[in-house]
Amino acid sequence: MRAAVIEEYRKDLAIRDLADPVCEADGVVLKVLACGVCRSDWHGWVGEHPRVKPGQIPGHEYCGEVVEAGPAARWKPGDRLIAPFILACGICPSCQSGHSNTCEDQRLPGFGEPGAYAEYISVPRAHNLVRLPEALPPVQAAGLGCRVTTAWHALTGRAALQGGEWLAVHGTGGIGLSCLILGRALGARVIVVDVVPEKLAHALSLGAEAALDARAGDVAARIHEITGGKGAHVSVEALGIEATTAASLECLRPLGRHVQIGLPLGHAARMQVNMNLVYMRQLALFGTRGMPSWRYPSLLGLIEAGRVDVAPLIARRIPLSQATEELRVFDAPAPPGVAVIDDFAA
Ligand SMILES: [Zn+2]
Ligand SMILES: [Zn+2]
Repeated sequence: MRAAVIEEYRKDLAIRDLADPVCEADGVVLKVLACGVCRSDWHGWVGEHPRVKPGQIPGHEYCGEVVEAGPAARWKPGDRLIAPFILACGICPSCQSGHSNTCEDQRLPGFGEPGAYAEYISVPRAHNLVRLPEALPPVQAAGLGCRVTTAWHALTGRAALQGGEWLAVHGTGGIGLSCLILGRALGARVIVVDVVPEKLAHALSLGAEAALDARAGDVAARIHEITGGKGAHVSVEALGIEATTAASLECLRPLGRHVQIGLPLGHAARMQVNMNLVYMRQLALFGTRGMPSWRYPSLLGLIEAGRVDVAPLIARRIPLSQATEELRVFDAPAPPGVAVIDDFAA
């Protein structure tokens, strides 16, 4: 099969012909239909992700068609499936209590085992996978492997966002845009913050009530102003750096809820934030990563009913050979929307 491989950090991915993957007893082999280029892939490609070593095929946000199913998998060839990036064991206490995204024995294609920047991928533990709705094009469904579902769980499973509440979104990459689209669908009033004017305009076109350029001064103060002096009810940090995390906490009203979705790695993992504010305003701080796969129907139902449209997330459809260029996009503030690989032969 054709696959893209990290041979050296920050160097062009090598396009290689590799052996086809082997199906595991409880898994499937998918012909990859679409795979998103996610910021976590960039973390691996630059050498910041502890599991990603040279030789890695990246790619963890994908959907595909079953070409082979193991004897213990309930799927059959021809089934089209979405895979969550966390493949949970299903039997540990975390899995059995419904929190499979905190599984004690996770398998993570794209991070230490072969990912989906390839024509085929072996996906073990196929009980985590979910059927791709017929009406949803694979390019849009890929995001349901990582960014869209992570955003959904952050808003509904963690912060319990309610209709009519103010939601602040700091950083409008794939996760942030998903939060905007999903927050709107839930009836929240959304304020986005970014540093790229094009992204702010894009967010306004998708229904944000306000779009703030973080370079124009005190973000938190402006959010308090927009919300009638009170502050946001829920604020999500979708980048993983100190300045946005600090602003996210500061923009909240008393009893506000902060959700850390951005992945803080390397030097950025330690941050100075105003903990007095956390105390005085009695804020709640949530970390979140992925979504338990049993929660897929809650989001797919809204998509199938036409209440959520994820199409505006997709900015570019690219061939596998252009994946490196898309990783480089994350080196600097990026244009709006995400890139999805949907041609693995080119
Ligand atoms: Zn991701
Ligand atoms: Zn488990």
